[in-house]
Amino acid sequence: MTQDTETLAQIADAVTSLCEAFSGSYWRELDQRRAYPTAFVKAMTEAGYLGALIPEAYGGSGLGLTVAARILETIHATGGNAAALHAQMYVMGTLLRHGSEAQKRKWLPEVASGKLRLQAFGVTEPGAGTETTAITTRAERRGETYVINGQKVWTSRAEHSDLMILLARTTPKEQCTRRSDGLSVFLVDMRKADGLSIRPIPTMINHATTEVYFDNVEVPAANLIGEEGRGFRYVLDGMNAERILIAAECIGDATWFVETARDYANDRVVFGCPIGANQGVQFPIARAYADAQAARLMVCHAAGLYDAGVSCGAEANMAKLLAADASWKAADMCLQTHGGFGFASDFDVERKFRETRLYQVAPISTNLILAHLGEHVLGLPKSY
Ligand SMILES: Cc1cc2nc3c(=O)[nH]c(=O)nc-3n(C[C@H](O)[C@H](O)[C@H](O)COP(=O)(O)OP(=O)(O)OC[C@H]3O[C@@H](n4cnc5c(N)ncnc54)[C@H](O)[C@@H]3O)c2cc1C
Repeated sequence: MTQDTETLAQIADAVTSLCEAFSGSYWRELDQRRAYPTAFVKAMTEAGYLGALIPEAYGGSGLGLTVAARILETIHATGGNAAALHAQMYVMGTLLRHGSEAQKRKWLPEVASGKLRLQAFGVTEPGAGTETTAITTRAERRGETYVINGQKVWTSRAEHSDLMILLARTTPKEQCTRRSDGLSVFLVDMRKADGLSIRPIPTMINHATTEVYFDNVEVPAANLIGEEGRGFRYVLDGMNAERILIAAECIGDATWFVETARDYANDRVVFGCPIGANQGVQFPIARAYADAQAARLMVCHAAGLYDAGVSCGAEANMAKLLAADASWKAADMCLQTHGGFGFASDFDVERKFRETRLYQVAPISTNLILAHLGEHVLGLPKSY
């Protein structure tokens, strides 16, 4: 569904108002304790924002990706971070697009109402990295149950989620014609998963990310999403939405960095004038602004195509690439503009600087996007 500019502005205003209760000091204190923003996630859930992409028939608001992108962009532009909750928006898409009617009726209304949290997405493994078809976590069918053994890494929010969308191998790779065959997607109810253990991974940002171990975890066969063996395609389908939403967060970050640098450059007086009067300070701010605006156009374009049901792999990838570059350059500019105070936690610049660096690596690294564009858009030889 497409949204008009006025509706989008109203949604952005409403999200901004909600975020006012969660200022820099809120995020800073959580960052120092590496604690989950429970109150913020609760407020966003109760306001209905996490159900934005769930159709009305399943209790959501069915608003489309353009709106979801604006919600996440706004959270980041106000200095917050949507990583604690954004997966609920795109992870749910796998269930929505490929789940059976019975599965959607069973799970989506409770996800939309906030009763159940669907925040965990278990794809990456220590031995496979970006090469998803090399994953070894195994799901073996035994009667009406699949038994799962293996390990995931970087499964964010697993400790704060009830459900996980899991990608596992159901047919050994050597028995498959193509290496992308034989992978399947499951909805794992982590509340009832004996043999599942979670170990937090300490990181340079407050991201609630973990390692998850599966030791004979039994999942009902009714929780297989779509057809057995087609899971890789289902996960790929969802990646355009994920890239566009993360790109929107980058645009929000870039906006925050530009506005924060502008305000500081106007206020900070050295050698008798505001530092922003020096072109060496002013021009990087102006350039960061222009870069972010250009990247934003690509994000909006990609989201519009997605909502119109048009294939948008190239645009989603370019949106993520350009937005992540814009936010990272803006972060560097903002820190430089602040001089020594950029390193002081109280200014929030160093926190946002660390946070926005992630998007050069996850959910997909810059090199892999360039490889996609080179190979699939420009027809250059495959490099791997
Ligand atoms: C904080 C955080 C949260 C995450 N959350 C999740 C999550 O919730 N669920 C989940 O499943 N995963 C998650 N991830 C994993 C994330 O998607 C991966 O880290 C990312 O896709 C990169 O994979 P990798 O770390 O294994 O890097 P690798 O695949 O090991 O690559 C390492 C480096 O080599 C480069 N490289 C590799 N192959 C090539 C090539 N052929 N050509 C050029 N360069 C190449 C990459 O660009 C990268 O810079 C998260 C990661 C982080 C850090």
